[in-house]
Amino acid sequence: MTFPAAEIEPPLRIDAPEVVPDLAARLGTRARQAALEARGVSDEAIHGFDDPLGPREDVDVVIVGAGPGGASAARVLSQAGLDVLMLEDGPARSRFRSAWGNAARYHYQEDYLMVAEGPVPLPVAAGRGVGGGSLVNSAICFRSPRHVLEHWADLLDDARFAPDAMAEVYAEIEARIEVVPVGEAIAGENNLLVERGVRKLGLEGGLLRRNAPDCIGCGICNIGCPTGGKFSVDKNLILDARRLGARVQADCRVQEVLVEGGRAVGVVGRLRHPDTRAEGPTLEVRAKAVVLCAGAIGTPRLLHSCGVADRLGPVGETLHLHPGSGVLGLCDFPVHMWRGATQGAYVHDRANPKVLPHTFNAPPEVFIAQSGAVGAEAKKMLSELNHLCGLGVMVSDDGVGSVRAMKSGRAKIKYTWNPKDLQILKDGMVLSGRVLLAGGAREVFALRHQAGRHTDAESLQAEMDRTELADLTLYASHPMGTSPMGPDPETSVVDRTGRAHRMEGLYMADAGVFPSSLGVNPQLTTMTLSTVLAAGWAEELVG
Ligand SMILES: Cc1cc2nc3c(=O)[nH]c(=O)nc-3n(C[C@H](O)[C@H](O)[C@H](O)COP(=O)(O)OP(=O)(O)OC[C@H]3O[C@@H](n4cnc5c(N)ncnc54)[C@H](O)[C@@H]3O)c2cc1C
Ligand code: SF4
Repeated sequence: MTFPAAEIEPPLRIDAPEVVPDLAARLGTRARQAALEARGVSDEAIHGFDDPLGPREDVDVVIVGAGPGGASAARVLSQAGLDVLMLEDGPARSRFRSAWGNAARYHYQEDYLMVAEGPVPLPVAAGRGVGGGSLVNSAICFRSPRHVLEHWADLLDDARFAPDAMAEVYAEIEARIEVVPVGEAIAGENNLLVERGVRKLGLEGGLLRRNAPDCIGCGICNIGCPTGGKFSVDKNLILDARRLGARVQADCRVQEVLVEGGRAVGVVGRLRHPDTRAEGPTLEVRAKAVVLCAGAIGTPRLLHSCGVADRLGPVGETLHLHPGSGVLGLCDFPVHMWRGATQGAYVHDRANPKVLPHTFNAPPEVFIAQSGAVGAEAKKMLSELNHLCGLGVMVSDDGVGSVRAMKSGRAKIKYTWNPKDLQILKDGMVLSGRVLLAGGAREVFALRHQAGRHTDAESLQAEMDRTELADLTLYASHPMGTSPMGPDPETSVVDRTGRAHRMEGLYMADAGVFPSSLGVNPQLTTMTLSTVLAAGWAEELVG
């Protein structure tokens, strides 16, 4: 088929992600060192579908899930001299290819986006593989806000969670995963524009900190890291655990928690081929301690699907998600949103502390697919693509959801919005519009159905005042709080030590144990909390 020339004029040129010229030179630094370091640790400790352990293993500790929570627990428990085995549903190593479909297949739970049912469907993302969410996240590292830790320490009556005590553990983890500020050289214009906007408005924020010391700013963190510049937990915490003797069985989905005489005594997993998904043999692991770190979706999904949840209390009943939306801006100058650190800058407004806008990058094909625009509208959108900037906006939510399991083994997620959260989100979107305009955008528009274009924040505010939940494009990738720590077995699943209130031998240490919504990106707090909890278990299990 041929098209008349007029229909394709002017040419719709989308600038491809920049090939960083000194890539080879940059890869000669820490990423290479990390690779060398990994080479010093026997690969025999990581098993996949083709070289499985089993059919039965007896260990001190079995850990289900190799994300930030599982990695941190494995490191501490191995350091204590315990025999640790991690079981992970996803692949043993990053299966990076420069394609969303590939990431969806290998590195996202349930083949990419899960959907929370509610007044409107809410897409929810969670990572998969040895490294869990840290393989595909944007590497943002925030410590928990002080007031959140103060609340947790009060609620749990435990000084270990107080800000000053946690600060030491944060610092140690930050050093190990190499948290560094985003440098201007790799920030990219979208992040720099937000930094300018923040400064001009006298707000807090600007370039943020990430565990990506060798980042070259290619902007595709959410499908993996092609350079090794992101220090996901497979490169440090799991490496430490392996060096201390921990083993990992990847391609193994745990389907059952074994309970005998009211005590958790092990798990049963089934091997699945990473490419074909063909089922392989089962692996039974018997352990003194069963540690669930399958994530705030995966842990309740497992406990409900194997029928153990009902014995444990409100498993999966207190899901928080940090739900959010976004605002785009159009500039007179090229921005190329997909160049630079994937999410490298943020905005903090003390007047609205429950909202956290940060930049987001997406490759051109995602904009095209998401815009829903057709015909002339699509053509206009494409011609503007190089000039777009944007901020994602997420809320520290009071809204609560639940996670159960469907017969298929997939998670059944529900989420009820708190009206206050919606208002906070809309206020945050107006704040984001203001920042983008101050940073240099000519006009801004919300990620909503039939969005208007606005050259001032007041006009955006008027549109947001008439915006309902169903109008917004929504997204969430921070599931938390589904097996919360708490003093009361009626309202929490684990106690302040991370042990199940109602079952001996069962422990949890993923983002599910947060007693409340966090308000900032959760990976660093997941690692820190898991480290603190596992240190307590080590004393008991070794002694
Ligand atoms: C796209 C995206 C971007 C994000 N960006 C950031 C960011 O920049 N900064 C930040 O702080 N946070 C970010 N997050 C969130 C962060 O990654 C998570 O909060 C963090 O990974 C939670 O750690 P976890 O150990 O609780 O769970 P997960 O990381 O989800 O790990 C759980 C692991 O358990 C495995 N598993 C699940 N069920 C089973 C089973 N039955 N058997 C065996 N294994 C199982 C999963 O495959 C997974 O590997 C992002 C998340 C996503 C998805
Ligand atoms: S932007 Fe993300 S994917 Fe690209 S090099 Fe940096 S850390 Fe890796």
